Amino acid sequence: MFTRRWDVIVVGAGNAALTAAIAAHDAGASVLVLEKAPQKARGGNTRFSGAVFRFAYQSLDDVIGLLPEPPEVRIDVEPYPPDRYYDDIMRVTGGLADPALTRTLCDLSLPTVRWMRDLGVEWEPSEIFGVRDVERWRFPPGLVLQTKRAGLGLSDMLFRAAESREIATAYDAKAVRLRLDAGRVTGVLVRTPDGEHQVAAEATVLASGGFEANPEMRARYLGPGWDTGPVRGTEYNTGEMLAEALEAGAQAYGHWSGCHATPVDANAPRVGDLRLTDKTNRLSYPYGITVNLAGQRFVEEGEDFSQYTYAKIGRAILAQPHNRAWQIFDRQTAHLLEERYKTGASVAGNTIEELATGMGVPAGGLGETVSTFNAASRGARFDPGVRDGKATQGLLPPKSNWAVPLERPPFVAYAVTCGITFTYGGIRIDTRARVLDTESRVMPGLFATGEITGGFFYFNYPAGAGLMRGAVFGRIAGVEAAKLAAGVAQTT
Ligand SMILES: Cc1cc2nc3c(=O)[nH]c(=O)nc-3n(C[C@H](O)[C@H](O)[C@H](O)COP(=O)(O)OP(=O)(O)OC[C@H]3O[C@@H](n4cnc5c(N)ncnc54)[C@H](O)[C@@H]3O)c2cc1C
Repeated sequence: MFTRRWDVIVVGAGNAALTAAIAAHDAGASVLVLEKAPQKARGGNTRFSGAVFRFAYQSLDDVIGLLPEPPEVRIDVEPYPPDRYYDDIMRVTGGLADPALTRTLCDLSLPTVRWMRDLGVEWEPSEIFGVRDVERWRFPPGLVLQTKRAGLGLSDMLFRAAESREIATAYDAKAVRLRLDAGRVTGVLVRTPDGEHQVAAEATVLASGGFEANPEMRARYLGPGWDTGPVRGTEYNTGEMLAEALEAGAQAYGHWSGCHATPVDANAPRVGDLRLTDKTNRLSYPYGITVNLAGQRFVEEGEDFSQYTYAKIGRAILAQPHNRAWQIFDRQTAHLLEERYKTGASVAGNTIEELATGMGVPAGGLGETVSTFNAASRGARFDPGVRDGKATQGLLPPKSNWAVPLERPPFVAYAVTCGITFTYGGIRIDTRARVLDTESRVMPGLFATGEITGGFFYFNYPAGAGLMRGAVFGRIAGVEAAKLAAGVAQTT
């Protein structure tokens, strides 16, 4: 495996890597996939994910066409053309996302999910973001489908597609260096339990994830405090090939001090656990209040639906003492909590004082917070299905929607902490997934896709865009890498 010359080497075995490997193979290349993890732990963050894909579509027919059979209840969702997707990314990233890369992501999202369906990836309506009643299933625009059996299913289906093509995969195979020859990338140095191997290829695709599982890099780039909290996904994304690409001259791009981090169960494991995958997430906070260990609110919980705010709420929790907070609900909203809350413990009380005692926070502080919040709640009827405008007045931080006074017992509280999902900073690619150097010139022989690339997400992130980004640019990287290899073969 390591002694022959390959057309394309793909580093990593998540969604970005496997889409690249399959696309390169189908474009005629010989492909080797290098996975650092042992076979049983293969698949990166992709395997832990909820596997919701945000893609653009003109009409419901585009969505239904991806399903193996029509759903048994009516699906209600607004059109989500590429421009709306583009605007969503620009809105949540404060206009900093790379316009050309974002345009490519949005425009090619639907063709890419169709291509994945044709590879054997099966889709179903998203359990996380869909709100179901007897007659209909309502979805936020753009966030309708996930892959069957979520990330575990996505990973299995992509591996099945790769294995049916007999794409070679090496496990326990960690890429540690890029091979360079007169400025051209000519393969990688791989470390395995048997030793080190120089592996030659015409094109190399880096798809080895971010640096979220590396506490030293987290502290260095994200800042103090980031070295301690739980990692929501794989322990293998430790950033060595990201550092190596920079060392070889790739351009650092994007929000290097930024990351996707969400409220998770305070007792979540230190790194992702495949029995829990993404079930430690605690995303129903818009329907309650979030307080710190002093019983004080510190973050706007109701700015928007959680799919537009959850990625930045983790950071706000991390800034609180002991990286801890509590989400509190009352009888009016407790029934709205996602199923995932059932995987953790809660504290209940018939009065706020009783609740505070169970939580171990000062009863006076929490009582004051709740009565001030209740007094500031104004207007509009509470409606969990829309941004209802039921807001606080004169309160800091404000709550702009779903500001239901906490007044109907029993009260219930869930302890949360900040869990890191993935990092935003990475190396720069162009719209053909070619890696650019510090002068924005193409680095010959080097491509990248997925979390290892930067320039897509800043400060915040619209749910479902991570996997979509990896697949759109994975497919592009595979095709471009195969083309390059075929060109080299012709000229030599
Ligand atoms: C709990 C959780 C839930 C999520 N839910 C969603 C969701 O619903 N929708 C969404 O869009 N996104 C979601 N995400 C984010 C999404 O999972 C990632 O953005 C996406 O999986 C990244 O894909 P990737 O292929 O770039 O990286 P990964 O899937 O992480 O793959 C990286 C691969 O590289 C390998 N690797 C690392 N270093 C090396 C090396 N030196 N040599 C060889 N191999 C190496 C790893 O072992 C792994 O196989 C979620 C993430 C988590 C953790």
